[in-house]
Amino acid sequence: MLKIEAQPWAVMVEHGRACFPRECCGILVGSAGDAGDNVVTLAIACTNAYEGDQKDRFELDPRDVIKAERAAREQRQGVVGFFHSHPNEDAYFSATDLKFSAPGYSNVVMSIRDGEFSHAKCFIANFDQTAAEPEELHYA
Ligand SMILES: [Zn+2]
Repeated sequence: MLKIEAQPWAVMVEHGRACFPRECCGILVGSAGDAGDNVVTLAIACTNAYEGDQKDRFELDPRDVIKAERAAREQRQGVVGFFHSHPNEDAYFSATDLKFSAPGYSNVVMSIRDGEFSHAKCFIANFDQTAAEPEELHYA
């Protein structure tokens, strides 16, 4: 289960709205809670580094991920996952999302319809990146 605190959740939704009609992306920092539940305490809004049409693609700049890992470690936390938006599409895990996912990490997909948040889902890819399982998502 992934729990997102109110402040990082607000950052994620605002980033999704601000980037519309392009996909937004970012990094989720937090800590492991009881029973393998991760709690997100910080959401880092990143620039979509994909050089083509960003309405249905995103790419994280690896340098942003390194910076996030460093910031997380300073707070004795870690990168627990990633987020991105689907402008005017449902929140599902696409074949492209699966292909470029980091196995074992939580991936939050937000559906942003006409510039407003609609719904969100969370997925974890298996280690050979052939399938993704839904993960229970709670946000404030
Ligand atoms: Zn996607």
